[in-house]
Amino acid sequence: MEGDQPIYDDYKLNEAMEFAKKANSYVMNDELLQAVKLYTKSIELCPNEHRFCINRTLCYIKMDYIFLALNDINRAIELEPTNSKCFFIRSKIFKILNEYEMAEKDLQKAANLDPTCEEIMDEINHLKKSGQDNYLLKDRLSGYNLNDKTYYKIKVNFHLIHAPNLPTNLWNYHGIRIENLNPKISIETICSNFNLFGDIIDVKRVGRLTAYNTFIFYENPVTPMFTIAYFQNRIDEELCAKEWKTFKPMKLYFAPTDNQNELKFFRPKYPIQNSQECYYWRTTSCNLNNHCSKWHIVANKNIDTQIWMKEKTCDQFNNKK
Ligand SMILES: [Zn+2]
Repeated sequence: MEGDQPIYDDYKLNEAMEFAKKANSYVMNDELLQAVKLYTKSIELCPNEHRFCINRTLCYIKMDYIFLALNDINRAIELEPTNSKCFFIRSKIFKILNEYEMAEKDLQKAANLDPTCEEIMDEINHLKKSGQDNYLLKDRLSGYNLNDKTYYKIKVNFHLIHAPNLPTNLWNYHGIRIENLNPKISIETICSNFNLFGDIIDVKRVGRLTAYNTFIFYENPVTPMFTIAYFQNRIDEELCAKEWKTFKPMKLYFAPTDNQNELKFFRPKYPIQNSQECYYWRTTSCNLNNHCSKWHIVANKNIDTQIWMKEKTCDQFNNKK
């Protein structure tokens, strides 16, 4: 052995290698707990051998014991600070923990240590994209008191939506209104389709068949944002109503729940924190087009339109006549 390598007596190292070999075969059969037990014995015999730490890290990651994994890989890096694989593995752990900046730093270190590794370069490119989405997710969700289940559902299904399609829920509506759903589909079908981003509290259907509106109520203002982003303008043969032979795309809007009395039939134009956004663009529509001094955000077009607004506009129009 070279002078700067950790020195064990051969007997201990051989024994540790034997345990590790057995552990490897457990890993192959997906018996991770057994494998962890044996790697632990290897580590106890040779605490300065980074390879055993790496192996146990990989088991912990698979078992979802992320902090134990982090602990082991930190130890491995301490022992072997020039090993690109260690940094690569730790970047994966940081990614699972949503620590994208740390993940990026580790990937960069891995790339510096091993500039020709394609796997590392692929991961760097991949992280750039998912990292941006994730910042957005954190940004949108912070400040809302979501329960764990809702948070989990949004996180798991976040990849289904395209981030620029996310509307902002200025009024914190807890409900949505959908036009063009087939009036014949059952409430069960509605519930099983529209609970992707949070549990449904109530479903109501109102109106004549020609102007059918389905209201879905959730328990928070975030689930409506994601649900709208996912379903807006979507054509689904199971869910959509037909006109002649063509399915009509869904149109979704924010809507107050029965409890949100203050938002039901009336509300001030802007929330207290005055908005730079065009109220008319968000509701019935803005006639100024490009000349409007306020923001027209594509994802928010008509998003706050309520049924009573349409009626009101029609009434005003008729009275003027
Ligand atoms: Zn405008």
